[in-house]
This record gives sequence, structure tokens and C-alpha cells, in this order.
Amino acid sequence: MVLNLIFLGPPGAGKGTVAQAVMDKYKLVQVSTGDLLRAEIASGSELGKKLAEVMNAGQLVSDDLVSEMLLKDLTKKASNPDFNGVIFDGFPRTQSQASMLENILLGINQKLNAVIYIESSKESVVKRLSSRWTCEKCKKVYNTVSLPPKSEGICDDDGGNLIQRDDDKPETISKRYDTFIEKTSPLIDYYKSKGILYKYDGNVPPVDSIKAAEEIIRRIVKE
Ligand code: ADP
Repeated sequence: MVLNLIFLGPPGAGKGTVAQAVMDKYKLVQVSTGDLLRAEIASGSELGKKLAEVMNAGQLVSDDLVSEMLLKDLTKKASNPDFNGVIFDGFPRTQSQASMLENILLGINQKLNAVIYIESSKESVVKRLSSRWTCEKCKKVYNTVSLPPKSEGICDDDGGNLIQRDDDKPETISKRYDTFIEKTSPLIDYYKSKGILYKYDGNVPPVDSIKAAEEIIRRIVKE
């Protein structure tokens, strides 16, 4: 069965961490608009410089730009003969992106199976994001408090250096949370009204969050 899921939640709710954990099990691919945008920044392009400004201010990048990047990445991934579904991590973030996603999925003959909303308080995400570290090479995410690497500053998987994101500064984190509440949280009711919303409490350690998400996915697969 092909499974297309959205992980919805504020920055630092654990969307990426949980996605990494469940992907292999269900042979899904992850599409992270944040990663796509950071790759553009890393390329050193003029566009990348503009993106960095917007992202470091805790604001959202324009819907058209993000949707275009997502369409390109998703089309490539979905054309793989082994394609078994996707986890959208960080997209959609506005009502307009949600509508664009519907069209994009229609265009590649796919449908959305479920939206998993990871509820998290501002207090817990601010704490988490300030201790978040990412592998420079493979982008695997660690947390020095709850999910530390085996040796400090080094990725367990490929020995890459662990770096901190520019937008994980306290002022930016707080602004990103507020942006989520203002622009993205209306999607919770939107997907609820479509009958595909599942939610759980994400204010728990990563292992428990992963368990809760797996439990929901098992239910969805059975339905
Ligand atoms: P987080 O979920 O922790 O904020 P992301 O990596 O998903 O991390 O996003 C980082 C930043 O990239 C966001 O604060 C925003 O500026 C930009 N961004 C990512 N996805 C989108 C999107 N779908 N629409 C607009 N901006 C986005």
C-alpha cells in the first residue's frame, strides 16, 4: 500500500526525527522543504542569500517558491519504481500550500492518506531547538540532551561534523513558533474537517514520540 503522510507541528515538535525513524520501516521517502531551502542556501546562490534572511527572521518563504521546489523533488522521488509513499515534513505550512499540495498529488496520481499532528508547547520546543545539532553531511538530527551522538560533535553514521542551525537562536525560535500558530495551525482544523487528522502529545522524549507515531501509522495501514 502506498502511504502519503503529512507530519504537522510547530518547529521542534520532532517531525524530522520521527520521520527519519519511521521511513525505513514503511519504505517511505521524506520530503522536507526546510532541507530543500537549506540546500539552496548552501549552494551560495543569490536566491539562497535571500532565503537565509527570511528564514533567520523566523518568517515563511513564499508559497510559490516552496511549492515549486517541493514539486520538483517529489516528482523525482515518485518516479522511482520502488516509490512506496512520502512523508511531508514542514509542508504545507499555509492554507494556500495545502491547496497546492492537493493539485500536486493529483498530478502524480497520489492521494493524501493522513495528517499526523504532533502537539508541542512553546516551552518544550524552545528548550529542544536550542540543543539541536545536525550532521553537516547526511543531515541526521541529534539533541545534546535527549538524543546525543556517541561521540561529541560527530555523526554516528558517517563521522560528519555536527553543526547548529542559524535559525535555532532563541529569538528566532520564539518567532518561528508564533509563525506556526498564526499561519500553519489553521490547517489542523482544515484536515480535521476532512477526517484525516490524527494527533498525539509530542511533549515527550523522542523514543515515546516515535512509538506514538508508529502506533498511529499501524492504525492507518489497517483501516
Ligand atoms: P522547523 O520545522 O524546525 O521550523 P524547517 O527546516 O522545516 O524547520 O524550516 C525552517 C525554515 O524554512 C522555516 O522557519 C521557514 O522559514 C522555511 N520553510 C520551511 N518550509 C517552509 C514552507 N513549507 N513554507 C514556507 N517556508 C518554509
